[in-house]
Amino acid sequence: MASIACIGVGNMGGGMALNLVKAGHRVLAFDLAAAALERVVAGGAEAAASAQSAAGAADVIITMLPAGAHVRAAYEGGLFAAARPDALLIDCSTIDVATARTLGEAAAARGLAMVDAPVSGGTAAADAGTLTFMVGGPAAAFAAAQPILAAMGKAVIHAGGPGTGQAAKICNNMILGATMIATAEAFVLAEKLGLDAQTFFDISSKASGQSWSMTSYCPVPGPVPTAPSNRDYQGGFAAALMLKDLKLACEAAQGVGASVPMGAEAESLYQLFVNNGGAFTDFSGIIRLLRGPDPA
Ligand code: NAD
Repeated sequence: MASIACIGVGNMGGGMALNLVKAGHRVLAFDLAAAALERVVAGGAEAAASAQSAAGAADVIITMLPAGAHVRAAYEGGLFAAARPDALLIDCSTIDVATARTLGEAAAARGLAMVDAPVSGGTAAADAGTLTFMVGGPAAAFAAAQPILAAMGKAVIHAGGPGTGQAAKICNNMILGATMIATAEAFVLAEKLGLDAQTFFDISSKASGQSWSMTSYCPVPGPVPTAPSNRDYQGGFAAALMLKDLKLACEAAQGVGASVPMGAEAESLYQLFVNNGGAFTDFSGIIRLLRGPDPA
């Protein structure tokens, strides 16, 4: 069993760290927020005094931080220097492809093994250990990371070289954002055309309009009882996080000259939804924006 430094044990990283404890690993946790740290310590992790002290005592360093700037500051500001020469570095945060590549290259230049390994699945999957990891990095680093990630997820997939895990994540979520909007607007149109929502679901979910957005997170309450739409769009995948991923996708597309008109439209609609107070509701709640104001 390994000694694992978990840097960032918030909503996602907390559940992930606890699954590593359950798998028998020694977890050295650090977070700037005391409450986040207390949760994992209560579950069997050890609190470290700093990110560097955790990293210096670990075989594996896992970061789960908000965004690229935090990740870059953490590695360049101390983790690279503190890491043991044979340590494995795993960044599970969702960040921009360019930063992930830069950090992968910086690690390689220091002789350190590093992968970018963003996740699909929200806090429920993090707690249950059923995340999907999309991993970018050298084959040997992937092979070393695989058993560690498998303790926190149901699928661990090698996407290619440094940054390709992040590329897979944002391309996947660009599809997700666009299909959710398309699904939501189709339900609104069906409703206005006098078609019952359950009947439309029964037809479209078995026809070519079917997608994960329809069959797992159906934006109207009823057809999929576990979908956030049945809980007034609470829980699930926050629209603010969808917007973050769409921004990353559009930035990356600009960087390589790719045309992403649907992704760009999805970004502007989620921006509008977030500006109108939807940030913390599930991303399927965008159906409210598309439906428009209730007639007085
Ligand atoms: P969060 O804000 O709950 O957790 C981030 C944690 O990092 C916080 O506890 C914060 O205190 C800590 N932190 C920030 N800077 C730090 C530093 N320098 N050193 C130590 N700790 C530091 O966010 P989250 O929901 O856990 O998301 C983490 C990452 O996972 C993000 O990149 C997010 O996009 C991605 N993600 C989230 C979800 C989700 O459903 N929440 C799903 C998939 C991916």
